[in-house]
Amino acid sequence: MNQFEAQATPGVKGLHPYQPGKPVDELQREYGVSDVVKLASNENPLGPSPVVLAALQNKLAELARYPDGNGFELKQALAAKHGVDMAQITLGTGSSDPLEFVVRAFVQPGDEVLFSEHAFAMYPIIAQAASATAVITPANTLPPDKWGHDLDAMRAAVTDRTRVIFIANPNNPTGTWLGGEVLRAFIADIPERVMVVVDEAYFEFASDPALGAVDYPDATQWLDCFPNLMVTRTFSKAYGLAGLRVGYSLSHPDVANLLNRIRPPFNVNSLALVAACASLNDVGHMRSGVAMNVEQMAYVTTTVKNQGLDFIPSVGNFVCIDVGERAAAVYDALLYEGVIVRPVANYGMPRHLRVTLGLPEENARFLTALEKVLA
Ligand SMILES: *Cc1c(COP(=O)(O)O)cnc(C)c1O
Repeated sequence: MNQFEAQATPGVKGLHPYQPGKPVDELQREYGVSDVVKLASNENPLGPSPVVLAALQNKLAELARYPDGNGFELKQALAAKHGVDMAQITLGTGSSDPLEFVVRAFVQPGDEVLFSEHAFAMYPIIAQAASATAVITPANTLPPDKWGHDLDAMRAAVTDRTRVIFIANPNNPTGTWLGGEVLRAFIADIPERVMVVVDEAYFEFASDPALGAVDYPDATQWLDCFPNLMVTRTFSKAYGLAGLRVGYSLSHPDVANLLNRIRPPFNVNSLALVAACASLNDVGHMRSGVAMNVEQMAYVTTTVKNQGLDFIPSVGNFVCIDVGERAAAVYDALLYEGVIVRPVANYGMPRHLRVTLGLPEENARFLTALEKVLA
């Protein structure tokens, strides 16, 4: 072991970095394929709206200036959108930032951070980095919510050392979701000294009525009832700004005050601030992306079902498909076809591949490639 490895904190020593989807350039370099379709990181295939691109263009003249460290304009727009006080908002370099801040604010080495099996991969990483103990409850194993969070198991796993509970609604990579009544009752049962984080990265997709008569809550509505509730949202998914890195949390103002002490002063850059504000002014673009997603979800799931494959019903912009025991080989064979999806064996789902819904022609490419590879 080298000297610095020995000097690292216990949490950092045990860290395994987050595994992102394979970048397009990397596949082209390594496999010599061109015309690559990337359906691996739940990005928006339409990209940001023209209104956003114009606002970015205008902002370029000011790149020499530091951004507004308080993000006043964006916070003002978000406060109006959510009907909250600006003091309840913490801006982040993506919503990953507030997810990390809450652990840094409340969790000491040996404390417990609680989440479900198959939950978003950032949670164990954030807990580990803080030298915390990750307590992982088994997921549901029976329909109708197979793979989803077992809230009774999570309730039962709360101890004196529990500091933070992470719940992604809907969850990535499973796409499973929790209804309003059960989630609210769960939060009400949790002692106030435990922060409950509801990660709503896919809120805009899941809340679209066209996805079906889905019982899907907006947890921001409960902020006044639960001082220990924190809700995170992002511009990375439905708003198509993943490359700019901007997201936020809403919480009790006293919690936001703590998070804002941790937050680096200029964590949201000036282009990200401008783009986020502009995208809130062009909700129509976001809505048309969501509408396309609804159609493509039906197309992809119907097609794989007709191929005899199982999938996990999802309200996100992605779906996990059961391709059998040789999922790793299927993933690799798809790469040779120029299609990047996401293996999820590291999420305890060795038979599934997670596919982000892309443009209609991209999804068609994936479906054709999948049929060929499985044949
Ligand atoms: C993509 C995603 C995020 C958001 O990441 P950003 O840092 O906002 O880009 C958060 N939670 C879940 C569950 C996600 O899938």
